Amino acid sequence: MTDFLDTNIDYLKGVGPQKAEVIKAEIGLFRFKDVLYYLPNRYVDKSKITKIASFDEAQPNIQIRGILIYFEVISSKNGKRLTALIKDETGVMELVWFKNYQFVLKNLKLKEIYTVYGKATDFNGKLNISHPEIKQYSAEDDKIGLKLEPVYPLTEKLKARFIDSKLIGQMVLQIISNPSFSLHEFIPTSVSKPLGLISPTLAYKWIHFPKDEQQMAAATKRIKFEEMFALAMRAEKNKVIRQAQSRGVKMSKVGDLFKAFYNKYLDFELTEAQKRVIKEIQTDMSSGVQMNRLLQGDVGSGKTIVALLCMLLVADNGYQSCLMAPTEILATQHFLSIRDALSELPIQVAVLTGSTSKKERKKILESIANGEVHILVGTHALIESDVVFQNLGLAVIDEQHRFGVAQRAKLWEKSLHPHILVMTATPIPRTLAMTVHGELDVSVIDELPKNRKPIRTVHKDESFRYEVMNFVKTEIEKGRQIYIVYPLIEESPKLDLNDLMNGYDVVTSYFPVPQYQIGILHGRVKYEDKEYEMNRFKKGITNIMISTTVIEVGVNVPNASVMIIENANRFGLSQLHQLRGRVGRGAEQSYCILMTKDDLNFPAKKRINTMCRTNNGFEISQADLEIRGPGDVLGTRQSGLPDFKLLDLAKDIEIIDLAKRAAAFVLKNDPQLEHDANRPLLSYLMKHQTDHFWSKIS
Ligand code: ADP
Ligand code: MG
Repeated sequence: MTDFLDTNIDYLKGVGPQKAEVIKAEIGLFRFKDVLYYLPNRYVDKSKITKIASFDEAQPNIQIRGILIYFEVISSKNGKRLTALIKDETGVMELVWFKNYQFVLKNLKLKEIYTVYGKATDFNGKLNISHPEIKQYSAEDDKIGLKLEPVYPLTEKLKARFIDSKLIGQMVLQIISNPSFSLHEFIPTSVSKPLGLISPTLAYKWIHFPKDEQQMAAATKRIKFEEMFALAMRAEKNKVIRQAQSRGVKMSKVGDLFKAFYNKYLDFELTEAQKRVIKEIQTDMSSGVQMNRLLQGDVGSGKTIVALLCMLLVADNGYQSCLMAPTEILATQHFLSIRDALSELPIQVAVLTGSTSKKERKKILESIANGEVHILVGTHALIESDVVFQNLGLAVIDEQHRFGVAQRAKLWEKSLHPHILVMTATPIPRTLAMTVHGELDVSVIDELPKNRKPIRTVHKDESFRYEVMNFVKTEIEKGRQIYIVYPLIEESPKLDLNDLMNGYDVVTSYFPVPQYQIGILHGRVKYEDKEYEMNRFKKGITNIMISTTVIEVGVNVPNASVMIIENANRFGLSQLHQLRGRVGRGAEQSYCILMTKDDLNFPAKKRINTMCRTNNGFEISQADLEIRGPGDVLGTRQSGLPDFKLLDLAKDIEIIDLAKRAAAFVLKNDPQLEHDANRPLLSYLMKHQTDHFWSKIS
């Protein structure tokens, strides 16, 4: 069938050489298969006819059918417009066109039946659609039936040449209704059957022209699965090869340290997700194969305690662990909280950062080398070459998205093959690529601790400054603590410092010292002072912490309940989400106030609205993609991420997981893909993964 799908689009009816040329140049559809794989990005629901009287404002896009009872071109001082009335058994709908209505007008006939589609509004009980699509009804329509109509992504140039979704749809229709059209199935029945996957031929018919939501869902599932399955096959095979080469330290014991901490010192119940993830990690680390695992969990989902319990497991088995954090503040915080949490246990914890004194460093290096220290916390200072462990069993990287590739590679290459756990709320493309290619397995914490109340987020203009400060006052009176964060722009640190200092003056004018305790933190504050400031805040002495984004990631002070972000329009979405994640960590109601003074441009408005609308990290990264456009954020080519047609790495974790399991299952039963049932799969992989990966193996 390849021949048929390789046909040039010039052969399609209704396209014509000029339009074909534009289509090729603009969206790269040269051959039938390109058209087939050019998928709609949404559908217009024409699968139902709505009765006029049952119009529901929540679903304004409706299709109605009725008799044309009146139409007229009306002139007024605002110009001319065409008005028409359509009546069904339940009511009347007004239709209005303000421009370009000549063509519509020509085709209107009183007392005939029309099908109308558009966005209706209810204006004081008068229903109205402006610029609807309108088509005279014919018996032919019943034969075709009602459906979801595909809407294809189009460029301005295409639109200018009258190349619209209808035309693309017609092109697709000619291809899929041709008797020569069929696609090879490469997913073995042993996989497709239990998962209820439809055939590819059907899937591509339905993805373009689904009759209803069910067909759309079935087609989407099949196509997403097939996109991931081929990659998963490769990833799983890679994993088998890697595992044969790099044996890991076997951590088979769940010993006294883990048990003692879990039973005696843990002062809350772990969430089910945390328990599951710990189990996954433990299974991995005891398998005898080196673990490379990503722990993904939204801000505040409790990743640190998971890491800590894993480090205890490692200590139980007689090995050392390290925990690397991207900032000194975070590293210090981790160190202090881990040391305190483990104070009753026979375990040594040390910290190493850029600010550790030479003398201190020397001492610590010794105790790492001789095995006295069980857990080493630090910044990237701990991957420098003079840091030599006696027996490193596990390396944890917190807020992994903040580390450069080179830094991570260094840890990867540490000669001992420790197990590696990387943690993040917002995986960067490079990380996602690694999970897709099988270099990293994924565990997800998809649940927040029970006691959390959703953070309330509001947007306030500078003119509300007084109200905002009053609100802060009442929160302080309740015993809460406040963060006020200023943006940090790397190009002009001086200006930022000014901003921060002016902010400090404003805040102290509302909250005079010493009645109130105000802390201040920014990049230029010396390390000891940072530590001092953070400590005072943690202990609850400081009421308000004024800071730049140095507190962006990881900082954990559960009593802080208000996050005020100044000039919020100057932050990116993921940064806003991270900052907001500094509050809402305890049982109290928390608030995030986004302050702005400037007029907001459109993307900034969208970012702020998104923040006010949702607390969900996945939704936020989705919105981020939409606002910035996928090209910008992902830089897919660079990151090594494939261009998926439908699969969304952020949203489709479940399908990704399913595909990986299916691939592992296939390879387990037939490692070389020699069985007849798996032949089509092997030839598909050899054809599509063109670097000879599969031919080398089989
Ligand atoms: P993140 O995943 O953003 O790194 P943290 O590990 O800093 O989150 O955890 C946020 C807060 O939630 C911490 O104060 C931690 O002690 C607390 N916490 C973690 N797990 C639970 C739980 N199961 N129940 C209650 N509180 C928890
Ligand atoms: Mg954290």
